[in-house]
Amino acid sequence: MSEAPAPPKKEKSAPQKAMDKLDLRRDIDLALHLPLRYEDETRLTPVAALRDGDTAQVEGVVTHCEVQFRPRRQLVARLDDGTGTLVMRFINFYPNHQKTLAAGQRVRVRGEARGGFFGIEMVHPTFRGVGEDTPLASALTPVYPTTASLPQAYLRKAVAGGLKRADLSEIVPAPLVPAGMWGLRASLRFLHEPTPDVSLMDLEDHTHPAWQRLKFEELLAQQLSQLQAKREREHQRAPKFKVVAGGLQERLLGALPFTLTEAQRRVVEEIARDLQREVPMHRLLQGDVGSGKTVVAALAAAVVMNDGWQCALMAPTEILAEQHFRKLIGWLEPLGIRIAWLTGSRKGKARREMLEAVASGDAALVVGTHAVIQADVTFKRLGLAIIDEQHRFGVAQRLALREKLVDPVAGLEPHLLMMSATPIPRTLAMTLFADLDVSTIDELPPGRTPIVTKVFSDAKRDGVIHTIAQEAAGGRQVYWVCPLIEESETLDLKNATETHQQLVAALPQQVVGLLHGRMPAAEKAAVMAEFTAGRMQLLVSTTVIEVGVDVPNASLMVIEHAERFGLSQLHQLRGRVGRGSVASVCVLLYTPPLSDTGKSRLRAMVDTQDGFEIARRDLEIRGPGEFMGARQSGAPLLRFADMELDEDLVRVARAAAEVMLDRHAEAAEQHVARWLGAKSDYLKA
Ligand code: ADP
Ligand code: MG
Repeated sequence: MSEAPAPPKKEKSAPQKAMDKLDLRRDIDLALHLPLRYEDETRLTPVAALRDGDTAQVEGVVTHCEVQFRPRRQLVARLDDGTGTLVMRFINFYPNHQKTLAAGQRVRVRGEARGGFFGIEMVHPTFRGVGEDTPLASALTPVYPTTASLPQAYLRKAVAGGLKRADLSEIVPAPLVPAGMWGLRASLRFLHEPTPDVSLMDLEDHTHPAWQRLKFEELLAQQLSQLQAKREREHQRAPKFKVVAGGLQERLLGALPFTLTEAQRRVVEEIARDLQREVPMHRLLQGDVGSGKTVVAALAAAVVMNDGWQCALMAPTEILAEQHFRKLIGWLEPLGIRIAWLTGSRKGKARREMLEAVASGDAALVVGTHAVIQADVTFKRLGLAIIDEQHRFGVAQRLALREKLVDPVAGLEPHLLMMSATPIPRTLAMTLFADLDVSTIDELPPGRTPIVTKVFSDAKRDGVIHTIAQEAAGGRQVYWVCPLIEESETLDLKNATETHQQLVAALPQQVVGLLHGRMPAAEKAAVMAEFTAGRMQLLVSTTVIEVGVDVPNASLMVIEHAERFGLSQLHQLRGRVGRGSVASVCVLLYTPPLSDTGKSRLRAMVDTQDGFEIARRDLEIRGPGEFMGARQSGAPLLRFADMELDEDLVRVARAAAEVMLDRHAEAAEQHVARWLGAKSDYLKA
């Protein structure tokens, strides 16, 4: 007997696909998709009462409609509501516009009023034909977050359906819900269809009690999944290492050309303590640019390698990975450690040989880009994975790393050390990284002279070039950074190339190199090598040098169009100088006029060199949502709550999550599933 043929698969419509993309799959997802804002379609405004800038709804009869050709082709209709005449203009229009807006038709129009030359106007208002007694909306009309291929009307219907069907019963045990908070069902109903008497302000700034409930729910889900991840990890097993006298760590310490700072010593201790436990370490090492995180990583690796296990060090760019590779070779090869080097550009025989060395365990340390976690890489036994500039990696990559690295034989998890020069503000640490241990290097190595930061308008460019010539003549080196142009790599390149040519012409005595993202890796490496060796005086570059590059003889950094960079990026870039004992200068060139945020960023750069203070100001200027950035968080972690503003609620949710996990495990699971669905994995990364 043959099976009945499967029903033909229906192709999904564009809006359905868009809904999938927004993760609006389950009824509950739809019910939890809350409005961004509301439109008040519950009342009509008389045309005579419209003021310039008002967004309002008007109803009347069309008196005239025609296509005009001057100053450009457009549809112009006039509407009379008995109090006055409103002009509507449509630059883009379709035949059915003309039908609905034909003279004599009654229409309801909504848009922004403008006081135009011919009286009050609306450009591209929304409109629909109505009868004399078509009722007005009885609730505010929600406007949902959406994408271009998902029309608001379609989404509204879908959400209304989801809201009706979804199971909105209370999952959180009543005693854990803060007193006075609304119920979940009532809150959701209200937020999707608020009655017109409510203050739009309360609704839109998320202070209304219904919003409080939703924010609490969301934060609770987030805290639960983090606590869960933490507890799961406590049950995982990792290899346990010993720090022994005369071991590799001690020998490396003895061989270093400098002594550790007090802060470095402390964090090396903290890490060593973790490595001696059989619970996998999950530690973030944060320290300002130049604070010396690499050597701390090497000292951690030494503990692991001393016991015959392998380590992986992953960096976000090839240039940075190569810098690490060179530095680590210098430190570790004399001690008999073999280091493998894996990046995307390394192919063929060289790659095969490296892979063999990694698989056999001959290579104790593997350094590279995310090529380190590619499918064909297998470790003999990996004890420690180190991620440099961890915020530059996507969450998906971090997840892949963890999956990849579990030792298939013994089922042991590797220890994980993440490094970052962007310190996490306290509230973020409490919420998004609640399951992470943090070590901080709060001191720079001695002998660094502070960097003087100067801000000049681009008109002073010639003077800056003159300074470059002086620095170069004194035997020092200079970076010139060109900005990213609106995410266009081509323009980006053109700009950097032109600047390079200009500087080559202006500085005939000096060797001026160029570095950009489109160059083949080998060429990049060659340019970097020239600069590192001191044979090149000026390096013109796009932001590829943003992270981690270490050339102590560089004393001047010029950042062109500094107003286009983010604050933490500027700080990272500036950190490329001031690494040796020569006094260093950072010049921020800007092109007027400066926006207010541009001004505050440049001011912050002049005011302080402290990475933590910079992060604080950045948070202030940008707000925490953006601070995290999609790249950093990998998923829209908090949609409704605001980590800064809702700090109190975060605490309440935190406490509730602990109790819920201990005493209501099943409800905890249900709550996380309801809120996060498939996304909960992301929170554990
Ligand atoms: P970052 O924390 O930005 O990654 P690096 O690890 O690149 O900093 O260190 C910056 C520079 O300081 C490197 O040249 C490194 O060798 C050097 N360094 C690190 N620790 C010390 C120390 N304790 N004393 C002197 N120099 C140090
Ligand atoms: Mg570094």
